[in-house]
Amino acid sequence: MRTTELNDRPFTRLLGELRVISNEMRQINHKKIINWTDNSPMRDGSLAEALVMVLPTAGCKYAMAKHGGCSMCTLPMDNPLRPSEETIKAFPEMAWDLFVEKGGSARFKAVKFYTSGSFLDKWELPVRVREAILTKFVDHVDEITVETRCEFVIKKNLDSILKVVPNDKIIIAIGQESTDDEINRRSINKGHTFKQFTRAVKLLQDYEIQTKGYILLKPLFLSEIAALYDALRSGQDMHTLGVENISINPSYIGKATLMDKMFKERTYQPPWLWSVLRTTISIKKLVGESVRVICDPVAAGSERGPKNCGNCDADIKSRLKEFSASQQLDVIEDITCECKAIYNAHLVTESLYNGMGNFEIFR
Ligand code: SF4
Ligand SMILES: [Zn+2]
Repeated sequence: MRTTELNDRPFTRLLGELRVISNEMRQINHKKIINWTDNSPMRDGSLAEALVMVLPTAGCKYAMAKHGGCSMCTLPMDNPLRPSEETIKAFPEMAWDLFVEKGGSARFKAVKFYTSGSFLDKWELPVRVREAILTKFVDHVDEITVETRCEFVIKKNLDSILKVVPNDKIIIAIGQESTDDEINRRSINKGHTFKQFTRAVKLLQDYEIQTKGYILLKPLFLSEIAALYDALRSGQDMHTLGVENISINPSYIGKATLMDKMFKERTYQPPWLWSVLRTTISIKKLVGESVRVICDPVAAGSERGPKNCGNCDADIKSRLKEFSASQQLDVIEDITCECKAIYNAHLVTESLYNGMGNFEIFR
């Protein structure tokens, strides 16, 4: 055990150094709520538009720690390094104005609040501001999703949320990434275990609040086939635990991350879109109708995201979007392209020579 602890140090030291660089690249102060819309399947099976808003908090505290946070994460770079108190206090109004400007409740049935960190961390978002945001929206949408690390899923925080939002309106999303503790520790530096995630999910179940679990498809140092297995096992574990929403997030290369460094050194590549499809289909088949499975990959088909040969990428990307909205598997089954045979061969050959794969094929 002592030896493995020693072996973690070069990994986390490097992540820490990269985080210093990425923090230097961040804007000291900005007030912009980054936003986009997506089509979300609702609890009752209907389809609705959701407005996604990234509140400009200081971002994830875990990422600021000496160990540098998660190895693939570039999210805090979108956030200001030192948001002013005035800006933070103004979040409820800012978010509401944006919601109204984009079409309000006539258009959106759901909102999602991200912070590039944890909505439930009072260091990022004071409790009164958090409650004020939720209060603004509670009567105007059917569903509110917020993201958090699992250590903030505690009774005090849930009690505070349920003061203003009924439990059947809120979804708490947690980035578990993998349910394998060794992968989380050695590839991702996630900083929490499956046991800790389990505790959080069980507490949410006590409160009858739905959970959304994020799975990272293809953490660092994993071959394509190992990544597939990891994602499928994680989906199975989350389902067994009773997670009601599963979001599959294929890796993409975020600036100034270890993933970025290894990508430039050609020792890491995001997954094939075939792997993304396979994971999505398998997990959906496994969990059935009762669990919503979402997969809307960032940067799909681009150089720094999950991709195939270039001919089939756009079609797969749009079909994944359609599937995520409709939950209909026939949308993503039976897709074909010449590159699928190469992908299948790649899965085998990569695992045979224990390298990181033949990524040069389509360059
Ligand atoms: S992935 Fe989440 S927990 Fe990890 S550093 Fe990024 S925001 Fe923080
Ligand atoms: Zn193709």
